[in-house]
Amino acid sequence: ILFFGGLSAVLIALQWSGPSFTEESLKGTRVLVTGASTGIGEQVAYHYARMGAQIVITARREHVLKEVVKKCLDLGAQKALYISADMAESADVSRVVEFAEEHLNGLDYLVLNHIGPSPYRMWDKDLDHVRWLMQVNFHSYLHMAVKALPRLEKTNGSIIVVSSLLGKMCSPYALPYIATKFALNGFFGSFQHELAMKQSNVSITICTLGLIDTEAAMEKIKGYIDMPAYPAHEAAYQIIKAGALRESEAFYPWYTYYSTLFRDWFPYHRDQVIRMVYKYKP
Ligand code: NDP
Repeated sequence: ILFFGGLSAVLIALQWSGPSFTEESLKGTRVLVTGASTGIGEQVAYHYARMGAQIVITARREHVLKEVVKKCLDLGAQKALYISADMAESADVSRVVEFAEEHLNGLDYLVLNHIGPSPYRMWDKDLDHVRWLMQVNFHSYLHMAVKALPRLEKTNGSIIVVSSLLGKMCSPYALPYIATKFALNGFFGSFQHELAMKQSNVSITICTLGLIDTEAAMEKIKGYIDMPAYPAHEAAYQIIKAGALRESEAFYPWYTYYSTLFRDWFPYHRDQVIRMVYKYKP
């Protein structure tokens, strides 16, 4: 307890020495949020809207996006538009970035958040599904980033990548999903180095999330694991804040940071705990 308490105090003190976040700083900023019809992406859109940003949201279901746009305008968004698109389709990926840049007259934040549906169970050896999910959860992120980079360079812009603790720690039942998140962390973590070496003015923030109480996540883990889920609106706020502060990494909730930090200290015990925590349903 003393150790963690001391460590937390040092980390909090270090955070205090950095710049502070103000919601006003996001007023009028131009934002593209993917996977914004439900869950964390939807909450991200509402926070930006409340802060007076100009937003383009995307996902596949047009009727749901329409409702989210309506609510964004009610909350105070300077502009809110939607474009429905399937991130499995390369042409759609380009179309979304072009739409946002044209209708917002530039881009300040690209929030990459969408994930394709994937079963939560022992891996059924479906290689086609892994390939498809890689396209949706990984390749489309790269494609969007590359496409948006020239505009982001003009605005000192930022890319925010929503990732997971499961992109840093192996676990059962979501192998294709976990592979896509490890790939994202590897790619964007390395991209951060290259941008820094080139003294690029574009920042990349990688967000490591633990279990968040979205409908999709709650439905998936039911019967497999019992652990507290944290609120999506708070996760969304932390994502936006970290992006605005141009932090290279963000962790929410708190335990994701310590899990990442101590992941490799006691590998045998870590793996035993993981196998105990997840229930096996043959
Ligand atoms: P949801 O399943 O609630 O939302 C996924 C979003 O992606 C929806 O808007 C969905 O809309 C969209 N989407 C799905 N397939 C496609 C597609 N082919 N093309 C375009 N859009 C698509 O996810 P969460 O809110 O739970 O998760 C959001 C992010 O947070 C993800 O990156 C996830 O990995 C991360 N995360 C979540 C955790 C959690 O516990 N919830 C934990 C750790 C990380 P539509 O169906 O209309 O296309």
